[in-house]
Amino acid sequence: MIRAAELIERKRDGGRLEPEEITELVLGHARGEIPDYQLAAFCMAVYFRGLSAEETLALTEAFVRSGSTLDLRAELGRAVVDKHSTGGVGDKTSLVVGPIVAACGVPFGKMSGRGLGHTGGTLDKLESIPGFRVELSNEQFVEQVREVGLAIIGQSPDLVPADKRLYALRDVTATVDSIPLIAASIMSKKIAAGAEGIVLDVKVGDGAFMKSIEDARILAEAMLELGRGAGRQVVCLLSGMDQPLGWAIGNALEVEEARAMLAGEETAPDLFALAIQAAGRLLALSDLGVDPAEGMRRAEVALDDGSALAAFERWIEAQGGDPAPDALPTASVVHELTFEGEGFVAGVSAMGFGRVALELGAGRRTKEDTIDHAAGIRCWAKRGDAVEPGQPLAEIHARDEEAADRAAQRVRELVTISAEPQPPTPIVLETLA
Ligand code: URA
Repeated sequence: MIRAAELIERKRDGGRLEPEEITELVLGHARGEIPDYQLAAFCMAVYFRGLSAEETLALTEAFVRSGSTLDLRAELGRAVVDKHSTGGVGDKTSLVVGPIVAACGVPFGKMSGRGLGHTGGTLDKLESIPGFRVELSNEQFVEQVREVGLAIIGQSPDLVPADKRLYALRDVTATVDSIPLIAASIMSKKIAAGAEGIVLDVKVGDGAFMKSIEDARILAEAMLELGRGAGRQVVCLLSGMDQPLGWAIGNALEVEEARAMLAGEETAPDLFALAIQAAGRLLALSDLGVDPAEGMRRAEVALDDGSALAAFERWIEAQGGDPAPDALPTASVVHELTFEGEGFVAGVSAMGFGRVALELGAGRRTKEDTIDHAAGIRCWAKRGDAVEPGQPLAEIHARDEEAADRAAQRVRELVTISAEPQPPTPIVLETLA
């Protein structure tokens, strides 16, 4: 008989649970032997009392054991790499990094999620590409990583089912933003999906889960420890999410921005820097065994010589999509805004832009909502920019004039201008390994 109430009580009172007790709770819940309300109470106890490193590892291992796992080294005979972001606004980094890494000869295999609330999800971005399929079986996923060098698909339902059930409970019981629960949830999925080298992009700022660099460090350290415990090589980039990443926010607009970077077109400096650093680190974690600086150099070569764009096109076609930029859906109304004042951009609220994109239809409030893939914003303002009246500020892509007008009003309020010069901040704030 499982003593769920006793274990919840011990955690509530600040006590420690043994690894096998955590396993009992998680797997008992996954088997339907422990009801949702007890796991929800357990999550709330963890929210207030935390978990030790040993308890967090036990939770992660129990998640992994709840379903099947992939061993990509055994399947491909070499290390596969993966990149994960804790979620932000305008974050299309994986769409750029995957092709760069594949073009450098390193297999990239990623299982990804959908967006909820103000943050976007990689799968939603990919689904804006006509024909693109995100639901591949594990066998098809492995085959595509082997043949094409790159696959990004939806989280397979037979991997880590216990996290899926628990996440749904956390979502409705105000227990999502607990660092050990987030760390175990993310790392269990990365470990089960089988990549050996993993770059975690931990976002910090008003548009991120982690609002402070201190919390981001704690989450990063917890995930690094879990990675080590599972024999994976992990690097965490702590990157800024006070302003949207790149210029585009919204699914098709972000795919287009990613493709443009791969095609060598002018790219927002923050997106460029983050993508090169993430790709360089992944190459350093791969069987190539290069150092990060050499990895970054090779990443830039793959952009310059067109091989990253070719890898992008091969990958999109392999998953049934049309990689041509003019195949992407477009909005019926595009509203252009210009700056009215002059000075220096002091702030471009990531959270605010995420919410405006959500209202335009680019995101979903509940899991059941459908998405308008063409909707979104292009915002040219970046903190530190010197601006003057008449200079382009943003483009609103909307389904009708009314939605565009509402969004335009909000966008003006979200970009703040100061008379004083504003020092720009680097996109990667810290790197932990
Ligand atoms: N992303 C996840 O996969 N899990 C969390 O708990 C939070 C973000």
